[in-house]
Amino acid sequence: MGQCRGFDWNPLAASRHSPLAGGELARRRSGKRPAGTMNPTFDADLTPHNTFGVAARAGCLAEIRETGDLEQALELADSRGMPLLLLGGGSNVLFAGDFPGMVLLMRNRGVEIDRESGRVRAAAGENWHELVKTCLDNGLHGLENLALIPGSAGAAPVQNIGAYGVELESFFIELELFDCDGGIRRAMGREECGFSYRDSALKQPRQRPRVVCSLTLQLQSDPAPNPRYPALAEELAESAATPREVFETVCRIRRRKLPDPAVLGNAGSFFKNPMISRGEFDRLRARGDPPPFHPAGEGVKIPAGWLLEQCGYKGFRQGAAGVFERHALILVNHGGASGGGLRQLALAMGDRVFAEFGIRLEPEVRIIGGDEPMRPRRES
Ligand SMILES: Cc1cc2nc3c(=O)[nH]c(=O)nc-3n(C[C@H](O)[C@H](O)[C@H](O)COP(=O)(O)OP(=O)(O)OC[C@H]3O[C@@H](n4cnc5c(N)ncnc54)[C@H](O)[C@@H]3O)c2cc1C
Repeated sequence: MGQCRGFDWNPLAASRHSPLAGGELARRRSGKRPAGTMNPTFDADLTPHNTFGVAARAGCLAEIRETGDLEQALELADSRGMPLLLLGGGSNVLFAGDFPGMVLLMRNRGVEIDRESGRVRAAAGENWHELVKTCLDNGLHGLENLALIPGSAGAAPVQNIGAYGVELESFFIELELFDCDGGIRRAMGREECGFSYRDSALKQPRQRPRVVCSLTLQLQSDPAPNPRYPALAEELAESAATPREVFETVCRIRRRKLPDPAVLGNAGSFFKNPMISRGEFDRLRARGDPPPFHPAGEGVKIPAGWLLEQCGYKGFRQGAAGVFERHALILVNHGGASGGGLRQLALAMGDRVFAEFGIRLEPEVRIIGGDEPMRPRRES
């Protein structure tokens, strides 16, 4: 494999199915702690670790940079009975309260690129957008439509990131997993990941989470740009676009349309676009102004942003918690909003859409803390 940037740690170098219990045993025999650099911080501030920029505290925060860090962190969490939470860039979470357990910040680095086969392996802590750029610079194509999505490579499969007509699963080969439940290190393939629209088997929260350590993708050396998504097609010339043009156009559109979390706290789309049946869609259409839609299997997918806009949420503000003025799907922190306040606003928005259209919105963002889990209430 033509090395691009070496791995700071090599999850594959560890025995593929080595149970942590075995490591623990070896440690007890040698009387040594596992090597690691995680430097735990107790009662840590999570404000810089979530793109909403809301204030929250963690019982403990540890940076995971190398193999030994995970085992060390688990040992510490176990000894104090702390639940675990994984975090990459914090761009798809809302802290509605403090997290009393241990937050593991994935900061392992490394990218390996094999130009000949088109295979790319990235450590979980790599920045997603930088990875897209690196692949393009190395003549490997396919990820251009997913440019400028904030966050880490390790979180990309968790919600099967997608944008401009492309989803991660099209390039996915496997990931390297560390299961904190039993300490098993193993590969996880596409089928087990169970990818669907902004979802995967990894998205289900667990007391003992499964850690994505690295991600392997299959890209193409032949340029096969995908400029068909309407918003992209509108901006690109009729002539065949190059992957670089698609990349640059996606970046330009996103910079224009989306708020920069460094300026205005947000986590991108707060809700998923709902799938509804054709019958429901016909009823919606009969009310007047029809929503834009994409056929999806038996039903249709309609933009949650359109439903919220119809309810007057574009630019809505409730204290420091609000909705982006150019897109009703994006909740924003105008400065000093609490996670609880943003969650309350999201709940009210979901209830309003249900009252108006009979459609339940499901959050795309993971909400941590707060007493009521914000799940769509399915009608019987
Ligand atoms: C302005 C903006 C625009 C966005 N646009 C898009 C978009 O177009 N398409 C899209 O799909 N998303 C979009 N997002 C959402 C977000 O960027 C993605 O979901 C991204 O993949 C999250 O990465 P992260 O590292 O920040 O994850 P985090 O927010 O840190 O974590 C998200 C979830 O993944 C888990 N997780 C994180 N790392 C790991 C790991 N290594 N192993 C196991 N679990 C892990 C966390 O526990 C959490 O449940 C946008 C967000 C913002 C702020």
